[in-house]
Amino acid sequence: MRKNFKVYILGSSAATPTSARHTTSQLLNYHNKYFMLDCSEGAQKQLRRMRLPMMKIDNIFISHLHGDHYLGLAGLLFSYHLLGRTKALNIYSPEGLQEIIELQFKVSAHEPAYPINFHVVKQGRQWVYEDKNITVETIPMMHKIPTYGYLFKEKQALRNMRKEAIDMYQIPVEQITNIKSGEDFKSPEGEIIANQKLTLDPLNPRSYAFCSDTGYTEDYIDQIKNVDLLYHEATFLHDKADIAKEKTHCTTIEAATIAKKAEAKKLMIGHYSARYDDMKLFDNEARSVFSETIIAIEGMCVDIGNNEK
Ligand SMILES: [Zn+2]
Repeated sequence: MRKNFKVYILGSSAATPTSARHTTSQLLNYHNKYFMLDCSEGAQKQLRRMRLPMMKIDNIFISHLHGDHYLGLAGLLFSYHLLGRTKALNIYSPEGLQEIIELQFKVSAHEPAYPINFHVVKQGRQWVYEDKNITVETIPMMHKIPTYGYLFKEKQALRNMRKEAIDMYQIPVEQITNIKSGEDFKSPEGEIIANQKLTLDPLNPRSYAFCSDTGYTEDYIDQIKNVDLLYHEATFLHDKADIAKEKTHCTTIEAATIAKKAEAKKLMIGHYSARYDDMKLFDNEARSVFSETIIAIEGMCVDIGNNEK
């Protein structure tokens, strides 16, 4: 069975919360690990409301330091302290966050009970995280202050052994990893058995791109090419394209155009301006360009790449 790879929507609003929506925050689950993407006001409460394992988050990725993307972070970090967290926490963000957080702990005369490792994301495209299953790299966005999206990529798995081939060719256990890596097998009699007879193709690696906030640019299309799920901000409907441009945000049509040009398998839009109530309008407009669009709604969970074999 495939490992879990899913994203939970904690907040979907831009700039200010509304009575129905929190500002941007997501929780990504890969297998037994949890990664937070932006941590807005109310995100902690959303984690609790959605019964997500808050204490299992070990890595938090902040796109930029506009308040609607990180103002929930201090609250979460203080809660970790009060709840007796001892495990280290890694936070990735553009420069400035460490001073902000350290000042808040300092003035409250608290020393966090757990190590916080701040990782400053710098200009350009950077690999910021890797474990045995996935990698995370930054996606430079075009916004008023330094801003980064994050691209989560599953590593290519080894080939799958055909169970019957092990018995048929009497393959010793110590040879299995080499064969799964693509090597042929040489039997004790000297016969070469081609790898295709021994293995099956592995599943395609899956990927998730988180792109918020940004004006319309095609600069990162190559980087996110063929992504399984593209989350892209769509702050405005397209009749507000001028305002979107001025504020370095995107419209539905622009987000859908990026998805189309990047040949994404699926697009999820979010970061809706607080002026809108009817998200169906966003859905309809984006779908007019890219039919595989879904809209981010708080409380929902999306499987990443579940259409793939
Ligand atoms: Zn912003």
